[in-house]
Amino acid sequence: MAHRITVVLAQGQSRHPAKKKLEEEIVSQLLCEPSLEVVVVSHLYDLSADGPGMLCLQGIAGDMIVLSWMYPRAARWTLARNAIQGQEGLTLLTEQAEGEKADEIPTDNHGEDAPHLIDSLKIPLRKIYCLDLRLRKEAKVYLQEIRRISEEAKITIIEPALGNITGDASSSRIPKSNGKAPGKPVIIKEETKRRWYPVIDMSRCTNCMECIDFCLFGVYGVDRTEMILVEQPDDCRKGCPACARVCPENAILFPQHKTPAIAGSQKTADDLKIDLSKLFGAMEPVDAMDLAIRERDEELMLTGREVVGRNGTGNAMAEMGTDRDGEQPAQHTTEKDDLDHLMDQLDQIDL
Ligand code: SF4
Ligand code: SF4
Repeated sequence: MAHRITVVLAQGQSRHPAKKKLEEEIVSQLLCEPSLEVVVVSHLYDLSADGPGMLCLQGIAGDMIVLSWMYPRAARWTLARNAIQGQEGLTLLTEQAEGEKADEIPTDNHGEDAPHLIDSLKIPLRKIYCLDLRLRKEAKVYLQEIRRISEEAKITIIEPALGNITGDASSSRIPKSNGKAPGKPVIIKEETKRRWYPVIDMSRCTNCMECIDFCLFGVYGVDRTEMILVEQPDDCRKGCPACARVCPENAILFPQHKTPAIAGSQKTADDLKIDLSKLFGAMEPVDAMDLAIRERDEELMLTGREVVGRNGTGNAMAEMGTDRDGEQPAQHTTEKDDLDHLMDQLDQIDL
């Protein structure tokens, strides 16, 4: 049987002509490659867990190359949370500057000795390569890398399943290699809306539960084996990245956040807990926890709830004997302090 690999192109949210052109050029060129299946889905992050896009991707059993408008780390763990798992395929197309050595993401000391969630997962041997479409504007760069990967891939595609497929697929299954009509991709049509929710990088997460303690919107939960999970993703407050700053392992991503460290950049993963006072060279030091509390409490106020401040957070909650449902005494803060003023400045400069 021929070794084949599936290329998934996850479209951007934007209808920007240059982005659409890049997507179209890549897909049209890939259709000339006999060893590749081509599947087009809507924006990866916005796909619903039980929609046709995710169901189709779950049905792909062999190696995959996933092109999306997200950092590869964010794409990988977005797929993983939807039971689309595989070994991390290494790509030469990275955000590292040319000639710069690609390092592993550094970790904080907190989790050095603690087991990570990934250690408890049974990850299939197939590989998933994630490429970031924001890296380069030229289709040929992606095509070269896809060809290189497909050369090294030694996997036979097993027939995937599931329906709502248009374009080349006349049945409810993605055609096998010998059934694929040339010149047409498999297009999975799915209406999506823009979503906002945390994605957990399980290679870094130590299951410490800081996030579930911190979030007062019920987004996090635990599974039957007491492992952290994003249980109610759509209850997350749009634009709020607070828990990403609280996680001691920098394991929480918001792929659509404008700050690379929060969105899943490999290069800046440890810049997340920057001391913001360094940006201004004055005032009291502002740490990530202060910023996170501020962001969360703003969301609480927007929903008409009382702010809880630092007393509503993690260990402080435990010390007060409160539970995870946020039943703490409220701390009203009506007068602006130094932190408030600093945050106003931050809002204005749009970091
Ligand atoms: S804060 Fe949450 S995501 Fe981060 S390491 Fe702890 S359990 Fe994992
Ligand atoms: S703390 Fe904020 S960003 Fe994190 S899950 Fe809860 S609502 Fe979402």
